[in-house]
Amino acid sequence: MMNAQATPAEIANVVAHVRARGYRPIELPGADRLAIGVLGSNPAAIRDAVVALPGVIAAIPVSKPYKMVGLEWHPERSVVAVGGVAIGGGSLTVAAGPCAVESEQQLVATATGVAAAGASLLRGGAYKPRSSPYSFRGLGAEGLDHLRRAREITGLPVVTEVLAPADVALVADAADMLQVGTRNAQNFSLLEAVGESGKPVLLKRGLSNTVEEWLLSAEYVVAHGNPDVVLCERGIRTFETATRNTLDLSAVPLVQSLSHLPVIVDPSHATGHRHLVPAMALAAVAAGADGLLVEVHPSPDDALSDGPQSLTLEQFSQLMNDVRRLVTALRHELVGGPSHGPG
Ligand code: PEP
Ligand code: MN
Repeated sequence: MMNAQATPAEIANVVAHVRARGYRPIELPGADRLAIGVLGSNPAAIRDAVVALPGVIAAIPVSKPYKMVGLEWHPERSVVAVGGVAIGGGSLTVAAGPCAVESEQQLVATATGVAAAGASLLRGGAYKPRSSPYSFRGLGAEGLDHLRRAREITGLPVVTEVLAPADVALVADAADMLQVGTRNAQNFSLLEAVGESGKPVLLKRGLSNTVEEWLLSAEYVVAHGNPDVVLCERGIRTFETATRNTLDLSAVPLVQSLSHLPVIVDPSHATGHRHLVPAMALAAVAAGADGLLVEVHPSPDDALSDGPQSLTLEQFSQLMNDVRRLVTALRHELVGGPSHGPG
């Protein structure tokens, strides 16, 4: 922590000392202070040396293992811009679309419908992580073209998953936001690659990850140069099999008490059942989520993946009407979309 009157030379001197000892200095300007974060495996080892330098008033250990995504270093809440649509900052942002991009016609029909109902981002996977190698694994590059087309028609920015570091450039070229799925939440080379992609990242919670592990995964992305991370709670694996996963809604206010990153909720993968999705979506809004990620399909019975948990366009439109009423009651604000959806 630097003295408020510290000179640029004093600051540069501290930065140089930290670097010379093999640690990584990060300047953390605040409203009424300048702090220099020190990253490394044992920063306590240089504490005494640094605290004696001119302009330094204190060396404060950061209690959490994640530094850049935590509130200790960064008390201001982050707002992440996705193709001009904000996530965070006290409003609610809804991303909706099919699990997988299946055809241009399927995607455009879904995109047009969810846009009319008030979604402000389009989701849809071109590269699908499937538990079985025999399941539909996405259209790949052709799916990315359909996403480009759907964005052109509806104006909705696109969120789509990337599975491998080698695909990041290709997917980032089409996407406004890169999704890292639950199965890749601790694929550290992928986290580093999306950290260098220049695109905002939607980081799903790993299916058996603790909140701390999830935040450390986000730390990988931010530490690799990308501050634009949104966390997504999508249910965790428990002994319960009646639902696909167990939605950990307490993670929403918990994460907000630990991190400045926005956190959204995916009630579709959390429950696995269409009839449970609206209630959990509304519960997520009430819990203070910064957004929702909802699977919608024009004909869920024909979906090539996740049909049972996908809402029809009519059901999504009804849900958005309820979301709007709840958001108004809570005095939040719904990002984008018309003020009244059809249905
Ligand atoms: C998805 O969003 O379609 C998906 C595969 O999600 P998850 O990684 O949460 O299972
Ligand atoms: Mn899915």
